[in-house]
Amino acid sequence: MQQVERYDLLVVAGGKGGKTLAMDMARTGRRVAMVERVPEMIGGTCINRACIPTKTLVRSAEIAELVRRAGEFGVEATLGSLDAAGVLGRKEAVVQGMRDMNLRQFHDSGMELVLGDARFVGPRRAEVIADGGTRVLEGEQVVINLAARPAIPAIPGLAEAVPLTSETLLDLERIPGRLLVLGGGYVALELAQAMRRLGSEVTIIERGAQLLAREDEDIATAISDILRDDGIDVRLGAEARRVERLADGTVRIDLAGQDGRPGSVAGDDVMAALGRVPATNGVNLDAAGVEVDQRGFIRVDEQLRTTAPGTFAVGDITGGPQFTHVSLDDYRIVKANLDGDRAAPPAASSRTRSSSTPSSGASVSPSATRVSWGTTSGSPPCRRRRCPGPGPSERPAGSSRRSSTGRPIVFSVRRSSPRTGVR
Ligand SMILES: Cc1cc2nc3c(=O)[nH]c(=O)nc-3n(C[C@H](O)[C@H](O)[C@H](O)COP(=O)(O)OP(=O)(O)OC[C@H]3O[C@@H](n4cnc5c(N)ncnc54)[C@H](O)[C@@H]3O)c2cc1C
Repeated sequence: MQQVERYDLLVVAGGKGGKTLAMDMARTGRRVAMVERVPEMIGGTCINRACIPTKTLVRSAEIAELVRRAGEFGVEATLGSLDAAGVLGRKEAVVQGMRDMNLRQFHDSGMELVLGDARFVGPRRAEVIADGGTRVLEGEQVVINLAARPAIPAIPGLAEAVPLTSETLLDLERIPGRLLVLGGGYVALELAQAMRRLGSEVTIIERGAQLLAREDEDIATAISDILRDDGIDVRLGAEARRVERLADGTVRIDLAGQDGRPGSVAGDDVMAALGRVPATNGVNLDAAGVEVDQRGFIRVDEQLRTTAPGTFAVGDITGGPQFTHVSLDDYRIVKANLDGDRAAPPAASSRTRSSSTPSSGASVSPSATRVSWGTTSGSPPCRRRRCPGPGPSERPAGSSRRSSTGRPIVFSVRRSSPRTGVR
Protein backbone atom coordinates (compact mmCIF):
# COMPACT_ATOMS: atom_id res chain seq x y z
CA MET A 1 0.00 0.00 0.00
CA GLN A 2 1.39 3.37 -1.08
CA GLN A 3 2.23 5.72 1.77
CA VAL A 4 0.07 8.89 1.80
CA GLU A 5 1.94 12.19 2.28
CA ARG A 6 -0.25 14.75 4.02
CA TYR A 7 -0.18 18.53 3.48
CA ASP A 8 -2.19 21.48 4.78
CA LEU A 9 -2.62 22.59 1.16
CA LEU A 10 -2.25 20.62 -2.05
CA VAL A 11 -2.24 22.71 -5.24
CA VAL A 12 -2.88 20.61 -8.33
CA ALA A 13 -1.11 22.50 -11.11
CA GLY A 14 0.70 25.78 -10.78
CA GLY A 15 -0.89 28.52 -12.86
CA LYS A 16 -1.08 32.12 -11.72
CA GLY A 17 -3.66 31.70 -8.96
CA GLY A 18 -2.36 28.35 -7.72
CA LYS A 19 1.32 29.23 -7.50
CA THR A 20 0.63 32.56 -5.78
CA LEU A 21 -1.55 30.82 -3.22
CA ALA A 22 0.97 28.02 -2.68
CA MET A 23 3.77 30.50 -1.96
CA ASP A 24 1.61 32.68 0.29
CA MET A 25 0.40 29.75 2.36
CA ALA A 26 3.89 28.25 2.63
CA ARG A 27 5.24 31.57 3.89
CA THR A 28 2.74 31.44 6.77
CA GLY A 29 4.28 28.13 7.85
CA ARG A 30 1.70 25.79 6.34
CA ARG A 31 2.87 22.56 4.73
CA VAL A 32 2.21 23.07 1.02
CA ALA A 33 2.83 20.92 -2.07
CA MET A 34 2.21 22.08 -5.63
CA VAL A 35 2.20 19.69 -8.58
CA GLU A 36 3.35 20.76 -12.05
CA ARG A 37 3.56 18.44 -15.06
CA VAL A 38 6.93 19.23 -16.57
CA PRO A 39 9.93 21.51 -15.93
CA GLU A 40 9.19 23.43 -19.16
CA MET A 41 5.87 24.58 -17.66
CA ILE A 42 7.15 25.80 -14.30
CA GLY A 43 5.29 29.03 -13.61
CA GLY A 44 2.27 28.08 -15.74
CA THR A 45 0.86 28.82 -19.18
CA CYS A 46 1.16 32.61 -19.11
CA ILE A 47 4.91 32.76 -18.80
CA ASN A 48 5.69 29.67 -20.87
CA ARG A 49 3.12 29.35 -23.66
CA ALA A 50 0.98 32.48 -23.75
CA CYS A 51 1.28 36.08 -22.48
CA ILE A 52 5.04 36.37 -22.21
CA PRO A 53 6.19 34.56 -25.37
CA THR A 54 3.51 36.30 -27.46
CA LYS A 55 4.57 39.69 -26.16
CA THR A 56 8.22 39.02 -26.94
CA LEU A 57 7.13 38.16 -30.49
CA VAL A 58 4.97 41.29 -30.62
CA ARG A 59 7.97 43.33 -29.47
CA SER A 60 10.24 41.92 -32.19
CA ALA A 61 7.50 42.67 -34.71
CA GLU A 62 7.15 46.25 -33.47
CA ILE A 63 10.87 46.78 -33.91
CA ALA A 64 10.74 45.40 -37.47
CA GLU A 65 7.80 47.70 -38.22
CA LEU A 66 9.61 50.71 -36.78
CA VAL A 67 12.74 50.06 -38.86
CA ARG A 68 10.57 49.58 -41.96
CA ARG A 69 9.01 52.99 -41.36
CA ALA A 70 12.06 54.78 -40.02
CA GLY A 71 12.16 57.01 -43.09
CA GLU A 72 8.83 58.54 -42.08
CA PHE A 73 10.66 59.89 -39.02
CA GLY A 74 13.58 61.18 -41.02
CA VAL A 75 15.79 58.30 -39.98
CA GLU A 76 17.60 56.35 -42.63
CA ALA A 77 17.38 52.63 -41.93
CA THR A 78 16.79 49.51 -43.96
CA LEU A 79 15.29 46.29 -42.72
CA GLY A 80 17.52 43.44 -43.84
CA SER A 81 16.46 39.82 -43.76
CA LEU A 82 14.57 38.74 -40.71
CA ASP A 83 16.28 36.27 -38.42
CA ALA A 84 13.38 34.03 -37.37
CA ALA A 85 15.70 31.88 -35.27
CA GLY A 86 16.91 35.02 -33.51
CA VAL A 87 13.34 36.06 -32.71
CA LEU A 88 12.67 32.58 -31.37
CA GLY A 89 15.92 32.55 -29.40
CA ARG A 90 15.12 35.84 -27.71
CA LYS A 91 11.68 34.54 -26.77
CA GLU A 92 13.23 31.40 -25.28
CA ALA A 93 15.73 33.44 -23.27
CA VAL A 94 13.04 35.71 -21.80
CA VAL A 95 10.80 32.75 -20.93
CA GLN A 96 13.68 30.81 -19.37
CA GLY A 97 14.55 33.84 -17.26
CA MET A 98 11.01 34.02 -15.91
CA ARG A 99 10.89 30.28 -15.28
CA ASP A 100 14.14 30.47 -13.30
CA MET A 101 12.80 33.40 -11.30
CA ASN A 102 9.61 31.46 -10.49
CA LEU A 103 11.60 28.46 -9.38
CA ARG A 104 13.69 30.59 -7.02
CA GLN A 105 10.55 32.15 -5.57
CA PHE A 106 8.95 28.73 -5.05
CA HIS A 107 12.04 27.55 -3.24
CA ASP A 108 12.32 30.68 -1.08
CA SER A 109 8.66 30.44 -0.02
CA GLY A 110 9.21 27.02 1.51
CA MET A 111 6.61 25.18 -0.57
CA GLU A 112 7.39 21.84 -2.19
CA LEU A 113 7.26 21.64 -5.99
CA VAL A 114 6.39 18.13 -7.17
CA LEU A 115 7.03 17.52 -10.88
CA GLY A 116 4.79 15.02 -12.67
CA ASP A 117 1.26 14.45 -13.93
CA ALA A 118 -1.34 14.66 -11.17
CA ARG A 119 -4.25 12.22 -11.20
CA PHE A 120 -6.92 12.10 -8.50
CA VAL A 121 -7.35 8.79 -6.71
CA GLY A 122 -9.86 9.96 -4.09
CA PRO A 123 -11.32 13.07 -2.44
CA ARG A 124 -8.48 15.60 -1.87
CA ARG A 125 -5.97 12.91 -2.79
CA ALA A 126 -3.85 12.73 -5.95
CA GLU A 127 -1.11 10.48 -7.20
CA VAL A 128 1.84 11.85 -9.10
CA ILE A 129 3.96 9.65 -11.29
CA ALA A 130 7.41 11.11 -11.74
CA ASP A 131 10.89 9.71 -12.35
CA GLY A 132 9.44 6.20 -12.51
CA GLY A 133 8.10 6.44 -8.95
CA THR A 134 4.64 7.20 -7.63
CA ARG A 135 3.78 9.52 -4.77
CA VAL A 136 0.34 9.90 -3.20
CA LEU A 137 -0.37 13.38 -1.85
CA GLU A 138 -3.34 14.46 0.23
CA GLY A 139 -4.33 17.99 1.18
CA GLU A 140 -6.51 19.08 4.04
CA GLN A 141 -7.49 21.70 1.45
CA VAL A 142 -7.02 21.27 -2.27
CA VAL A 143 -6.87 23.91 -5.01
CA ILE A 144 -7.15 22.81 -8.64
CA ASN A 145 -5.49 25.12 -11.18
CA LEU A 146 -5.36 22.89 -14.28
CA ALA A 147 -4.85 24.37 -17.74
CA ALA A 148 -6.87 25.03 -20.87
CA ARG A 149 -5.51 24.21 -24.33
CA PRO A 150 -6.25 25.51 -27.84
CA ALA A 151 -9.53 24.19 -29.25
CA ILE A 152 -9.68 22.57 -32.68
CA PRO A 153 -13.42 22.69 -33.44
CA ALA A 154 -15.13 20.21 -35.73
CA ILE A 155 -14.82 22.25 -38.93
CA PRO A 156 -14.53 19.70 -41.76
CA GLY A 157 -10.88 19.17 -42.70
CA LEU A 158 -9.45 21.43 -39.97
CA ALA A 159 -7.86 18.74 -37.79
CA GLU A 160 -6.56 16.90 -40.88
CA ALA A 161 -4.93 20.12 -42.12
CA VAL A 162 -2.87 20.13 -38.88
CA PRO A 163 -3.38 23.81 -38.11
CA LEU A 164 -0.96 25.90 -36.14
CA THR A 165 -2.18 27.10 -32.75
CA SER A 166 -1.07 29.96 -30.54
CA GLU A 167 1.32 27.47 -28.95
CA THR A 168 2.91 25.91 -32.04
CA LEU A 169 3.17 29.25 -33.85
CA LEU A 170 5.40 30.47 -31.05
CA ASP A 171 7.86 27.65 -31.77
CA LEU A 172 8.11 28.18 -35.55
CA GLU A 173 11.58 28.73 -36.89
CA ARG A 174 10.26 30.38 -40.04
CA ILE A 175 7.81 33.14 -40.87
CA PRO A 176 4.84 31.76 -42.85
CA GLY A 177 4.49 33.35 -46.31
CA ARG A 178 0.70 33.56 -46.28
CA LEU A 179 -0.99 32.94 -42.94
CA LEU A 180 -4.73 32.35 -42.59
CA VAL A 181 -5.95 33.08 -39.08
CA LEU A 182 -9.23 31.53 -37.97
CA GLY A 183 -10.84 33.58 -35.22
CA GLY A 184 -11.12 37.21 -34.20
CA GLY A 185 -10.39 37.06 -30.48
CA TYR A 186 -7.45 38.75 -28.82
CA VAL A 187 -5.11 35.76 -29.21
CA ALA A 188 -5.78 35.71 -32.97
CA LEU A 189 -5.33 39.44 -33.35
CA GLU A 190 -2.10 39.99 -31.52
CA LEU A 191 -0.44 37.07 -33.28
CA ALA A 192 -1.88 38.09 -36.66
CA GLN A 193 -0.47 41.59 -36.31
CA ALA A 194 2.90 40.33 -35.11
CA MET A 195 3.23 37.89 -38.02
CA ARG A 196 2.20 40.59 -40.48
CA ARG A 197 4.88 42.91 -39.15
CA LEU A 198 7.42 40.10 -39.31
CA GLY A 199 6.62 39.71 -42.99
CA SER A 200 3.66 37.34 -43.47
CA GLU A 201 0.66 38.12 -45.66
CA VAL A 202 -2.18 37.66 -43.19
CA THR A 203 -5.91 37.05 -43.59
CA ILE A 204 -8.17 37.03 -40.53
CA ILE A 205 -11.40 35.05 -40.87
CA GLU A 206 -14.07 35.89 -38.29
CA ARG A 207 -17.65 34.69 -38.58
CA GLY A 208 -19.08 37.43 -36.35
CA ALA A 209 -19.91 40.90 -37.54
CA GLN A 210 -17.00 42.40 -35.56
CA LEU A 211 -13.64 41.40 -34.11
CA LEU A 212 -13.40 40.94 -30.31
CA ALA A 213 -17.01 39.90 -29.76
CA ARG A 214 -17.07 41.13 -26.16
CA GLU A 215 -15.88 44.64 -26.97
CA ASP A 216 -17.97 47.68 -27.78
CA GLU A 217 -18.44 48.09 -31.50
CA ASP A 218 -16.39 51.30 -31.73
CA ILE A 219 -13.39 49.67 -30.07
CA ALA A 220 -13.67 46.65 -32.37
CA THR A 221 -13.93 48.93 -35.40
CA ALA A 222 -10.86 50.91 -34.34
CA ILE A 223 -8.90 47.68 -33.97
CA SER A 224 -10.02 46.42 -37.41
CA ASP A 225 -8.86 49.74 -38.86
CA ILE A 226 -5.45 49.39 -37.23
CA LEU A 227 -5.05 45.86 -38.58
CA ARG A 228 -6.17 46.88 -42.07
CA ASP A 229 -3.73 49.82 -41.95
CA ASP A 230 -1.03 47.22 -41.40
CA GLY A 231 -2.13 45.46 -44.58
CA ILE A 232 -4.05 42.60 -42.98
CA ASP A 233 -7.06 41.30 -44.90
CA VAL A 234 -9.79 41.27 -42.23
CA ARG A 235 -12.84 39.26 -43.28
CA LEU A 236 -15.86 39.70 -41.05
CA GLY A 237 -19.09 37.70 -41.27
CA ALA A 238 -17.04 34.97 -42.94
CA GLU A 239 -17.48 31.43 -41.67
CA ALA A 240 -14.96 28.70 -42.44
CA ARG A 241 -16.98 25.78 -43.82
CA ARG A 242 -14.19 23.50 -44.95
CA VAL A 243 -10.42 23.46 -44.65
CA GLU A 244 -8.23 21.53 -47.05
CA ARG A 245 -4.48 20.94 -47.02
CA LEU A 246 -3.64 20.56 -50.72
CA ALA A 247 -1.04 18.22 -52.22
CA ASP A 248 1.46 21.09 -52.57
CA GLY A 249 1.22 21.74 -48.83
CA THR A 250 -0.83 24.93 -49.11
CA VAL A 251 -4.20 25.39 -47.43
CA ARG A 252 -7.57 26.37 -48.86
CA ILE A 253 -10.51 27.45 -46.73
CA ASP A 254 -14.02 27.57 -48.15
CA LEU A 255 -16.01 30.38 -46.66
CA ALA A 256 -19.69 31.05 -46.33
CA GLY A 257 -21.43 34.23 -45.41
CA GLN A 258 -18.73 36.66 -46.51
CA ASP A 259 -21.02 39.63 -46.92
CA GLY A 260 -23.57 37.06 -48.09
CA ARG A 261 -21.21 35.62 -50.72
CA PRO A 262 -19.48 32.24 -50.70
CA GLY A 263 -15.78 32.21 -51.52
CA SER A 264 -12.44 30.75 -50.57
CA VAL A 265 -9.05 31.92 -49.38
CA ALA A 266 -5.63 30.32 -49.85
CA GLY A 267 -2.55 30.35 -47.68
CA ASP A 268 0.62 28.49 -46.77
CA ASP A 269 -0.43 27.93 -43.17
CA VAL A 270 -3.57 28.17 -41.11
CA MET A 271 -3.70 29.04 -37.42
CA ALA A 272 -6.74 28.05 -35.37
CA ALA A 273 -7.39 30.63 -32.65
CA LEU A 274 -10.92 29.53 -31.88
CA GLY A 275 -10.97 29.41 -28.11
CA ARG A 276 -9.47 27.20 -25.44
CA VAL A 277 -10.92 24.05 -23.92
CA PRO A 278 -10.28 22.43 -20.52
CA ALA A 279 -7.33 20.06 -20.39
CA THR A 280 -8.59 17.52 -17.86
CA ASN A 281 -8.01 14.24 -19.71
CA GLY A 282 -6.56 11.63 -17.41
CA VAL A 283 -6.90 13.79 -14.28
CA ASN A 284 -9.80 11.67 -13.00
CA LEU A 285 -11.81 14.51 -11.47
CA ASP A 286 -14.59 11.98 -10.74
CA ALA A 287 -12.47 10.31 -8.08
CA ALA A 288 -12.10 13.67 -6.36
CA GLY A 289 -15.87 14.25 -6.46
CA VAL A 290 -15.34 17.33 -8.63
CA GLU A 291 -18.09 17.92 -11.19
CA VAL A 292 -17.67 19.61 -14.54
CA ASP A 293 -20.16 21.51 -16.70
CA GLN A 294 -21.34 20.59 -20.22
CA ARG A 295 -18.20 22.17 -21.70
CA GLY A 296 -15.93 20.20 -19.35
CA PHE A 297 -14.94 23.14 -17.13
CA ILE A 298 -14.97 22.65 -13.35
CA ARG A 299 -18.19 23.81 -11.69
CA VAL A 300 -17.54 26.38 -8.95
CA ASP A 301 -19.70 28.63 -6.79
CA GLU A 302 -19.11 32.30 -6.06
CA GLN A 303 -16.38 31.41 -3.60
CA LEU A 304 -14.70 29.12 -6.17
CA ARG A 305 -15.66 26.02 -4.18
CA THR A 306 -16.10 22.93 -6.32
CA THR A 307 -18.70 20.24 -5.64
CA ALA A 308 -16.15 18.39 -3.47
CA PRO A 309 -15.72 19.52 0.15
CA GLY A 310 -12.42 21.26 0.88
CA THR A 311 -11.65 21.55 -2.84
CA PHE A 312 -11.45 24.85 -4.74
CA ALA A 313 -10.67 25.60 -8.39
CA VAL A 314 -9.12 28.74 -9.89
CA GLY A 315 -8.20 30.13 -13.29
CA ASP A 316 -9.09 29.09 -16.83
CA ILE A 317 -10.29 25.66 -15.74
CA THR A 318 -13.35 27.22 -14.06
CA GLY A 319 -14.73 28.36 -17.42
CA GLY A 320 -14.68 32.12 -16.72
CA PRO A 321 -12.88 34.78 -18.73
CA GLN A 322 -9.44 33.39 -19.60
CA PHE A 323 -6.93 35.94 -18.34
CA THR A 324 -4.00 35.78 -15.99
CA HIS A 325 -5.37 38.64 -13.92
CA VAL A 326 -8.65 36.73 -13.49
CA SER A 327 -6.69 33.75 -12.17
CA LEU A 328 -4.85 36.10 -9.80
CA ASP A 329 -8.14 37.52 -8.58
CA ASP A 330 -9.32 33.95 -7.97
CA TYR A 331 -6.29 33.54 -5.71
CA ARG A 332 -7.52 36.49 -3.61
CA ILE A 333 -10.92 34.88 -3.14
CA VAL A 334 -9.60 31.43 -2.22
CA LYS A 335 -6.93 32.89 0.05
CA ALA A 336 -9.60 34.70 2.07
CA ASN A 337 -11.47 31.42 2.41
CA LEU A 338 -8.37 29.49 3.47
CA ASP A 339 -7.41 32.24 5.88
CA GLY A 340 -10.73 31.60 7.61
CA ASP A 341 -12.13 35.01 6.77
CA ARG A 342 -15.57 33.47 6.73
CA ALA A 343 -17.30 36.35 8.46
CA ALA A 344 -17.05 38.36 5.29
CA PRO A 345 -15.67 36.23 2.47
CA PRO A 346 -15.04 38.35 -0.59
CA ALA A 347 -17.68 37.35 -3.09
CA ALA A 348 -16.39 36.52 -6.55
CA SER A 349 -17.29 39.82 -8.09
CA SER A 350 -19.45 39.84 -11.17
CA ARG A 351 -16.68 41.80 -12.86
CA THR A 352 -14.10 39.08 -12.80
CA ARG A 353 -16.46 36.18 -13.38
CA SER A 354 -18.66 37.80 -15.98
CA SER A 355 -18.32 37.28 -19.70
CA SER A 356 -18.17 41.05 -20.17
CA THR A 357 -14.58 41.24 -18.93
CA PRO A 358 -12.91 43.16 -21.76
CA SER A 359 -10.07 41.78 -23.84
CA SER A 360 -7.53 43.63 -21.78
CA GLY A 361 -4.88 41.08 -22.69
CA ALA A 362 -4.98 42.19 -26.32
CA SER A 363 -1.78 43.72 -27.51
CA VAL A 364 -2.63 45.31 -30.84
CA SER A 365 -0.84 48.55 -31.55
CA PRO A 366 -1.34 51.24 -34.15
CA SER A 367 1.44 51.64 -36.66
CA ALA A 368 4.38 53.85 -35.75
CA THR A 369 3.00 56.80 -37.64
CA ARG A 370 -0.72 56.37 -37.02
CA VAL A 371 -1.98 59.08 -34.71
CA SER A 372 -5.67 59.57 -34.31
CA TRP A 373 -6.02 60.39 -30.65
CA GLY A 374 -7.66 63.60 -29.65
CA THR A 375 -9.68 63.71 -32.87
CA THR A 376 -13.04 65.25 -32.13
CA SER A 377 -16.20 64.30 -33.92
CA GLY A 378 -16.08 67.64 -35.78
CA SER A 379 -12.58 67.36 -37.20
CA PRO A 380 -11.47 65.06 -40.01
CA PRO A 381 -10.60 61.66 -38.53
CA CYS A 382 -7.10 60.31 -39.07
CA ARG A 383 -8.34 56.76 -38.83
CA ARG A 384 -8.02 55.71 -42.43
CA ARG A 385 -5.00 57.74 -43.40
CA ARG A 386 -1.58 58.31 -41.94
CA CYS A 387 -1.25 61.44 -39.88
CA PRO A 388 1.97 63.11 -38.82
CA GLY A 389 2.99 63.20 -35.19
CA PRO A 390 4.49 61.14 -32.42
CA GLY A 391 4.36 57.34 -32.60
CA PRO A 392 2.60 55.13 -30.05
CA SER A 393 5.61 54.56 -27.84
CA GLU A 394 5.93 58.30 -27.43
CA ARG A 395 2.40 58.65 -26.12
CA PRO A 396 1.47 58.55 -22.46
CA ALA A 397 0.02 55.30 -21.15
CA GLY A 398 -3.65 54.88 -21.91
CA SER A 399 -3.74 57.73 -24.45
CA SER A 400 -7.27 58.15 -25.59
CA ARG A 401 -8.93 59.38 -28.70
CA ARG A 402 -12.52 59.89 -29.67
CA SER A 403 -14.56 57.29 -31.46
CA SER A 404 -16.91 57.99 -34.31
CA THR A 405 -19.60 58.45 -31.65
CA GLY A 406 -17.49 61.10 -29.94
CA ARG A 407 -16.88 58.84 -26.93
CA PRO A 408 -13.21 58.64 -25.92
CA ILE A 409 -11.67 55.23 -26.41
CA VAL A 410 -8.47 53.96 -24.94
CA PHE A 411 -5.93 51.79 -26.69
CA SER A 412 -3.73 49.53 -24.67
CA VAL A 413 -0.72 51.37 -26.07
CA ARG A 414 1.78 51.81 -23.32
CA ARG A 415 5.47 51.93 -22.92
CA SER A 416 6.74 48.38 -22.97
CA SER A 417 9.71 46.96 -21.15
CA PRO A 418 12.64 47.23 -23.56
CA ARG A 419 13.74 43.74 -22.58
CA THR A 420 10.57 41.68 -22.79
CA GLY A 421 8.24 43.94 -24.65
CA VAL A 422 5.65 43.18 -21.96
CA ARG A 423 3.34 46.07 -21.28
C1 LIG B 1 -1.47 33.31 -26.90
C2 LIG B 1 -2.04 33.75 -25.57
C3 LIG B 1 -1.73 34.99 -25.07
C4 LIG B 1 -2.25 35.40 -23.85
N1 LIG B 1 -1.95 36.65 -23.40
C5 LIG B 1 -2.49 37.07 -22.25
C6 LIG B 1 -2.21 38.37 -21.76
O1 LIG B 1 -1.48 39.14 -22.38
N2 LIG B 1 -2.77 38.75 -20.59
C7 LIG B 1 -3.59 37.90 -19.88
O2 LIG B 1 -4.10 38.28 -18.82
N3 LIG B 1 -3.87 36.65 -20.31
C8 LIG B 1 -3.34 36.22 -21.47
N4 LIG B 1 -3.60 34.94 -21.90
C9 LIG B 1 -4.43 34.06 -21.07
C10 LIG B 1 -3.59 33.45 -19.96
O3 LIG B 1 -2.45 32.81 -20.50
C11 LIG B 1 -4.40 32.41 -19.16
O4 LIG B 1 -5.64 32.96 -18.81
C12 LIG B 1 -3.65 32.04 -17.91
O5 LIG B 1 -2.37 31.57 -18.22
C13 LIG B 1 -4.43 30.96 -17.15
O6 LIG B 1 -3.73 30.70 -15.98
P1 LIG B 1 -4.27 29.64 -14.96
O7 LIG B 1 -3.93 30.14 -13.62
O8 LIG B 1 -5.67 29.29 -15.22
O9 LIG B 1 -3.45 28.29 -15.21
P2 LIG B 1 -2.26 27.94 -16.18
O10 LIG B 1 -1.23 29.01 -16.15
O11 LIG B 1 -2.82 27.50 -17.46
O12 LIG B 1 -1.59 26.74 -15.39
C14 LIG B 1 -2.04 25.45 -15.45
C15 LIG B 1 -0.86 24.54 -15.21
O13 LIG B 1 -1.35 23.20 -15.07
C16 LIG B 1 -0.33 22.35 -15.49
N5 LIG B 1 -0.97 21.03 -15.62
C17 LIG B 1 -1.92 20.69 -16.50
N6 LIG B 1 -2.32 19.41 -16.28
C18 LIG B 1 -1.61 18.97 -15.22
C19 LIG B 1 -1.57 17.73 -14.50
N7 LIG B 1 -2.33 16.71 -14.82
N8 LIG B 1 -0.73 17.63 -13.46
C20 LIG B 1 0.07 18.65 -13.11
N9 LIG B 1 0.06 19.85 -13.75
C21 LIG B 1 -0.76 20.00 -14.79
C22 LIG B 1 0.14 23.01 -16.76
O14 LIG B 1 1.41 22.55 -17.14
C23 LIG B 1 0.14 24.48 -16.34
O15 LIG B 1 1.39 24.89 -15.88
C24 LIG B 1 -3.10 34.52 -23.12
C25 LIG B 1 -3.41 33.25 -23.62
C26 LIG B 1 -2.90 32.87 -24.83
C27 LIG B 1 -3.25 31.51 -25.37
